[in-house]
Amino acid sequence: MKKIIVANWKCNPNSFLKARNLFHDIKKIKTNNLIVVCPSFVHFNIFKFQINNKIKAGAQDVFYKEGAFTGKISASMLKDYKIKYVIIGHSEIRALGETDEQINKKIKSALDHELIPILCVGEKKDEDVKKILESQLKNIISKKIIIAYEPVWAIGTGKFCSSEKANKVLEFIKKRFKNKIIYGGSVNGDVVKNYSNFDGVLVGSASLNSKEFIKIVKNV
Ligand code: PEP
Repeated sequence: MKKIIVANWKCNPNSFLKARNLFHDIKKIKTNNLIVVCPSFVHFNIFKFQINNKIKAGAQDVFYKEGAFTGKISASMLKDYKIKYVIIGHSEIRALGETDEQINKKIKSALDHELIPILCVGEKKDEDVKKILESQLKNIISKKIIIAYEPVWAIGTGKFCSSEKANKVLEFIKKRFKNKIIYGGSVNGDVVKNYSNFDGVLVGSASLNSKEFIKIVKNV
């Protein structure tokens, strides 16, 4: 089955040239899986004329309204730019105060514009994973949504979630939803094998290093 590998570049790299070169390396990857590249909004131009069947364009966030909302990007703007996927509810945005209600509006707006939401869910250190997921997964309002299970304590920290724990959470989600479920949290080319029961992975830091990213795509 085709796996999905999402590259979340976050606020990187710091120039268009570097973003274009990184994308150029990714485009050369030979794979039957699907790669979704989510660059910064200002680097969307890397996608012009370069998308193929294996690589899809993604965004890191979306706003649910249009008009007097300084700094925001709407779903119709993304759609107009041929963006297909959008990450919603990333823990780094939740940490800035984003609520599940706002996430719900973003998801509805994305779906209304035929974008595929990638909803990030996951517990912080010492939080009860089932309790957190029960509440965050209320936003699974469509089978089209991709669920990204990302334990917050494993994001950008180099701390790995054991495959045993990740698989338990996977089963917990699978019992409730038929959606695709991917894993994220310090994934690199070696540990990616631990999450092979998932439908793919969401990769942050390691997606900025083309060699490591290629290894992830090969080993996923
Ligand atoms: C992420 O950005 O969601 C992520 C998983 O980052 P990292 O791979 O760096 O932990």
